[in-house]
Amino acid sequence: MNKTKDEWKEELKPEVFHILWEKGTEPAFSGKNLKEKRIGTYLCAGCGNELFKSNEKFDSGSGWPSFSDPYSKESVDYHIDLSHGLKRVEVLCKKCGGHLGHVFDDGPKPSKKRFCMNSLALRFVEDK
Ligand code: FE
Repeated sequence: MNKTKDEWKEELKPEVFHILWEKGTEPAFSGKNLKEKRIGTYLCAGCGNELFKSNEKFDSGSGWPSFSDPYSKESVDYHIDLSHGLKRVEVLCKKCGGHLGHVFDDGPKPSKKRFCMNSLALRFVEDK
């Protein structure tokens, strides 16, 4: 997917563009996907790539939607993020390259991963 940043800016709501393409972070407990409990799939808010299934979602208490594993090998990419004086692993949409959030190693077993996602970077679609 080779859209330019300007094309994404035209297409996306400003708050979504800020997360995906300016590596923004929404305030904790602000997102509508945090409390989403229905069964379905979380897609990239930019390109619609399948990112997470609802059965991988858990309540981390962080204030951001949290998942233990991505949907598939085509869902996400990783990038070492050294900003803010921290060493973190940034999570990007594998299809469009948009910033989704970070992944940490303090999640539940068996993966022990905590994909800490911006609600605004996700679009939930309920299973039919
Ligand atoms: Fe995407």
